[in-house]
Amino acid sequence: MPQHADANQRFTEILRHAGLRVTEVRLSVLAVLSKGQAAGHALLAADVAAALPHADRVTVYRTLSTFVDAGIAHRVDPGDRVFRFGLTDHAHCDGDDHDHEHPHLVCDACGVVQCLDDAVVTIQPRRGAAGTWRQIRQQQVTLHGTCQSCQSPDARRASGAGSRG
Ligand SMILES: [Zn+2]
Ligand SMILES: [Zn+2]
Ligand SMILES: [Zn+2]
Repeated sequence: MPQHADANQRFTEILRHAGLRVTEVRLSVLAVLSKGQAAGHALLAADVAAALPHADRVTVYRTLSTFVDAGIAHRVDPGDRVFRFGLTDHAHCDGDDHDHEHPHLVCDACGVVQCLDDAVVTIQPRRGAAGTWRQIRQQQVTLHGTCQSCQSPDARRASGAGSRG
């Protein structure tokens, strides 16, 4: 399948670009994370491992850490002390100037954690705040709400009427 080949080519480039050796497991983990990214979801390590039943679980977990260290992926703890992993989109970065911090949304209905790649959080000093402000290097903003699929009429019908069965 040419589409598969294209994706593998892209994943190979991502690994090379990050200075990582290209291995079967790394390509597979990238494929799973990429599918999550397409859906806007950050994934549990356990979910990534479950999607790759033929890969060694420990190797999958280690691969996720390697990706985070290499800047390919980011991890977020939405407040339950369990990390979710998402691919990091460097498409809008320029050299050392990185611009991909984004808030995450926890859906209170289905529990999914979404990367809000299209949202920016700006934190500014309050008006009249004293001269020198803190230096912020990193922000982790977690929001709670309802994801798109739980907002759809189909989902509402399913969760409302369906449970009566
Ligand atoms: Zn970047
Ligand atoms: Zn949801
Ligand atoms: Zn994210």
